[in-house]
Amino acid sequence: MSITRSTPLTQLPGVGEARGKKLERSGLVSAGDLLGWYPRGYEDRRQIHTIREAPLDCRTCVAAMAAEHPRRSRIRKGLELVQVKVVDHTGALHLTFFNQGYVERAIKAGEEYIFFGAVEEQGRRRAMVNPIFERADKQSFTGCIMPVYRLTAGISNHLLASLARQVLPCAGELPETLPQQIRQAHQLAGAEFALKNIHFPENEEALSLARRRLAFEELFYLAVGLSCLKDRRAQRAAGWALPLRPKEEFLALLPFSPTQAQNRVMDQISADLTSGRPMDRLVQGDVGSGKTAVAAFAGWLCAKGGTQTALMAPTEVLAEQHFRSLSALLSPAGVRVGLLTGSMAAGEKKKVRAALAAGEIDFIVGTHALISDGVAFARLALIVADEQHRFGVAQRAALAAKGGADAPPHVLVMSATPIPRTLALIVYGDLDVSIIDQLPPGRTPISTYVVREDKRQRMYGFVRKQAEEGRQVYIICPAVEEGLEEALPGEGPSLDLKAVKTYAEKLQREVFPDLRLGILHGKMKPKEKEEAMSAFSSGQTQVLVATTVVEVGVDVPNASLIVIENAERFGLSQLHQLRGRVGRGQHPSHCVLITATRSREAMERLHVLASTTDGFQIAEEDLKARGPGDFFGDRQHGLPQMKLADLTGDMRLLTEAQEAARELLDRDPHLSQPEDRPVWERVRRLFADTPDIFN
Ligand code: ADP
Ligand code: MG
Repeated sequence: MSITRSTPLTQLPGVGEARGKKLERSGLVSAGDLLGWYPRGYEDRRQIHTIREAPLDCRTCVAAMAAEHPRRSRIRKGLELVQVKVVDHTGALHLTFFNQGYVERAIKAGEEYIFFGAVEEQGRRRAMVNPIFERADKQSFTGCIMPVYRLTAGISNHLLASLARQVLPCAGELPETLPQQIRQAHQLAGAEFALKNIHFPENEEALSLARRRLAFEELFYLAVGLSCLKDRRAQRAAGWALPLRPKEEFLALLPFSPTQAQNRVMDQISADLTSGRPMDRLVQGDVGSGKTAVAAFAGWLCAKGGTQTALMAPTEVLAEQHFRSLSALLSPAGVRVGLLTGSMAAGEKKKVRAALAAGEIDFIVGTHALISDGVAFARLALIVADEQHRFGVAQRAALAAKGGADAPPHVLVMSATPIPRTLALIVYGDLDVSIIDQLPPGRTPISTYVVREDKRQRMYGFVRKQAEEGRQVYIICPAVEEGLEEALPGEGPSLDLKAVKTYAEKLQREVFPDLRLGILHGKMKPKEKEEAMSAFSSGQTQVLVATTVVEVGVDVPNASLIVIENAERFGLSQLHQLRGRVGRGQHPSHCVLITATRSREAMERLHVLASTTDGFQIAEEDLKARGPGDFFGDRQHGLPQMKLADLTGDMRLLTEAQEAARELLDRDPHLSQPEDRPVWERVRRLFADTPDIFN
């Protein structure tokens, strides 16, 4: 059978209907899909050893001859063994296969095989359990660099690899999509070579060429798409041109004077809003740098110009907090602030929607409910998305479409996830970027300690001390995903989500019977969450036991200590976000990271956090340790999923791809040259989920 890219996988040997279904669940339907399913890693099986020289306890290949006919025996119901002795000129190796009856017939006495597995020493015998094997004259999964794929339930890596091997010949069918000029300028391998070698690399060099080509390609299409997006916006219909107002009028409302960085960013925003060109700006600022004030300024300017602002927050807790602080700040200036969240009573929501449509609310704060149908604005001129990594490009586009016929609204995106500058070029390629690189004065830096379980009692003592001094404390447990079992901090057996609850109850009962404890987690009803949060902000609750729902934005200046359980389970940037919940007032603040990890690497990572409070530096460290994958995870930015870019830690490649994209668009802005059409097609497909972009 000759295989083409569109051949269904179910036509390949070994793939029946059941397996076909399982593969389909991962989006693997045709041979072409499988070609695009890049390995997540590799196993080097090139070295083939003799029995005597094979290293112990790591997976290796051994060449040997079956010295006898395999013996099959049944130990008990459901447990069957096949045993066989194999030999070479250096010695003997005893193989055992569990529940693989077919081996009895597959291995023939006197034949040569390659066995791949871990050699163990059992007394003076050498042995291997459940090796993979193939005849020495028909090697395909030994003696080579083997791909290791992300697995789908019920599909083994071996099956995926054997399917990949079968579909590999059709790699040559793929048209070359990178223009020749770019391939030459950046020394990129051809598409066929890259695909073949990403699955079954001939050697390390071929693998790195393949990776470079494919990762470049992904980043390049992304960069081209984002640049087109930006260009398109620049050419778009005129935006709202708001009347300029002296900033001092707004500053007089603030209970503090703005930092230089806040001032600079407000000026940039003011220039955008009054220019008549739709703004698309990202404000990046570390936790606590005061992004809310900047957003308030933008909303104030719009309200004073007789238009409306919508601020979207990622959680209800945060929306309510913003509503409270923005009302307090802006009502004295006559700005009418409203709140709209999913959990509000239907009647209430209706009233708010009516007021929005009638233009009786100037500044609406809400969650995703704001982009739901049925919300219409009278004169929406500005959309602010807070903590942007929770919103995708598509969601921003949907909200922007609410602008109505008058003009497209200005868009201001605020993010506390510091993204290394190089990466920001790509990730936010479609936005102008402002950075608030300065914290308000008078903050005492947060002291951070990495602490082991044996210091738990001391940590409890510290919590008590803070509470007795009138301060408040967060205790964070790892967020629990639906269906996943999590261990109770500091205890062995795994428990489910009740962990947070059980832990809080236990703390209340056994450790802090005299303190006022509260609890907050994602599975609580919105109403309960709101109550828990306001009890904490008002100081009624002294210790809040919570999951990461408090991660973004929550602002309680009296909180001076945050304890993070199982800290090794969080990414550095996430820990940094959590830590940002304290140190927001004038009190000296502390962050205690509790861990039971034995991994040195994990400890080193945690110590990075103890050594700096600079979010950008932490992000760089995260990038070094884990590659850009975390930043490209689609949760972070809502851009098309990257497959390979997260396998390469090569930051230079990002810049190169970015430059190549710019060069191409300078040369052929509409990608209308025949040789650039394939790029256009690819970019279109990549952004297919994003409405309103390439139509
Ligand atoms: P984030 O950038 O993390 O969203 P916020 O806007 O929540 O930060 O601000 C954090 C805290 O700092 C708030 O309590 C806010 O009132 C305060 N704050 C913001 N700007 C200043 C400033 N220039 N001087 C003093 N305090 C400020
Ligand atoms: Mg914030």
